[in-house]
Amino acid sequence: MKLQDIGEFGLIDRIAGKVRDKFSVPIGIGDDAAGIRPAEGTLTLVTSDMLIEGVHFDFNLTDPRSLGRKSLAVNLSDMAAMGCRPRYFLLSMGVPSHVSVDFLDAFIAGIMDRADQFAVGLIGGDTCSSKSGFVISITMMGEQLPEQTVRRSGAVPGDMICVTGTVGDSALGLQLLQRGEREGLPVLRHLDPVPRVAEGMALAEARLPSAMIDISDGLAADLGHILDQSGVGACVHLESIPLSEPFRCGCNSMDLDPFSLALAGGEDYELLFTVPPAQQHLVRELLTGTGSSVTVIGNITESRHLSIIAGDGSEYTLAAKGYDHFSGSASVPDRREAQQ
Ligand code: ADP
Ligand code: MG
Repeated sequence: MKLQDIGEFGLIDRIAGKVRDKFSVPIGIGDDAAGIRPAEGTLTLVTSDMLIEGVHFDFNLTDPRSLGRKSLAVNLSDMAAMGCRPRYFLLSMGVPSHVSVDFLDAFIAGIMDRADQFAVGLIGGDTCSSKSGFVISITMMGEQLPEQTVRRSGAVPGDMICVTGTVGDSALGLQLLQRGEREGLPVLRHLDPVPRVAEGMALAEARLPSAMIDISDGLAADLGHILDQSGVGACVHLESIPLSEPFRCGCNSMDLDPFSLALAGGEDYELLFTVPPAQQHLVRELLTGTGSSVTVIGNITESRHLSIIAGDGSEYTLAAKGYDHFSGSASVPDRREAQQ
C-alpha cells in the first residue's frame, strides 16, 4: 500500500490506533496541543533528538523496526542521563513519497516496542512530506524531583569516573555493517541500542552521581562535556575501559585499534558518571540489581586536562575525536596509525 492511498490523516489515525490506553493523558493525540499533568513537586525535563536519513541511518543497513526502536532509545538515553523517569513523547516525521505504508507500520511498531517497554506514552507530533530523505524528530518529556535530577556540572576532584556496560561495540558494529555483516553483538548494539533508564533512575534516586551523561558522541568527547561543565580535568586508565569479548575479537580480526573505537566511536548509549570514592561500593550494589555492570575507569582531577594513561604508564594520544556534525565524522585509525 502506498502512502497516498491513506493520506496524512489516515497515517495519523494508524499511529494513534497503536497508543495504549494505560498511558492516557488529560489531552492526547487529536487536539491542537496535548495536555499533561506532571507529578507534584517534580521538574519536567524535555529532550529532543533527530534522526536523518543519510546522516544517522542508511536504509541499506537497517530495517524499519530497528530504526523505530533506536529512534526512541536515543531519547530515552538522554532521559536516563538526567536520572529522570521518562513519561511522554512527541513524534514528528518528514516522509518521502517512496516510503510504503508497510515500512511505516514496521517503524511505528518498533517505536511502540520501546515505548511500551519503558512506559512512555505518545501524545502527539507532526507529519509532513519530505522532498528528500526520511526525517524523524522525537521530543521526550520526563520528570524527577529537582534534588534528584543529575546534571553534567557536578563533578569534583577526587570523584571516581564510572561507566556502565561496555563501550565501542556500536562503532565496530557500524564498520561490520558497512562490510556486509548482519549479525553479532556489535551489529545488534549499533542497530538496536538499549537505553540505561532503570540504571539512571536508580543512581539518581540514591543521590549517588555528582555528574552524569550518556555516551552518544564517544567516551572521550562525552567525558569532555562533564569536564568542561564541571570545570575539572580527569585521568583515565586505558586498560580499565570495559570492552566486550566480541569487540576485542572483531578489532583484532579487522586490525582496528580497539581504544580509538572505544574512546571516539560513539553511540554506545551507556551511562558515564562520577561519584565520590566513598560511594563506589553502593554504586556497584545498586547496578547489580538492574543487571548492568559498572567499571571505574579513572578519577577527576583539578588540572583542567584529560589525560589518558596506557598500560605502560605513557600518555595515550587519541587520534580521532568524537562525532561532530559540522566537522565531519570521527575517522577510526587502524592499529598502525594509532601507534604512530
Ligand atoms: P495541526 O494541523 O493543528 O498541527 P495535525 O493535523 O498536524 O494538527 O495533527 C493532528 C493531531 O495528530 C495532533 O494531536 C498531533 O499532535 C497528532 N499527530 C500528528 N502527527 C503525529 C505523529 N507523527 N505522531 C503522533 N501524533 C501525531
Ligand atoms: Mg501539525
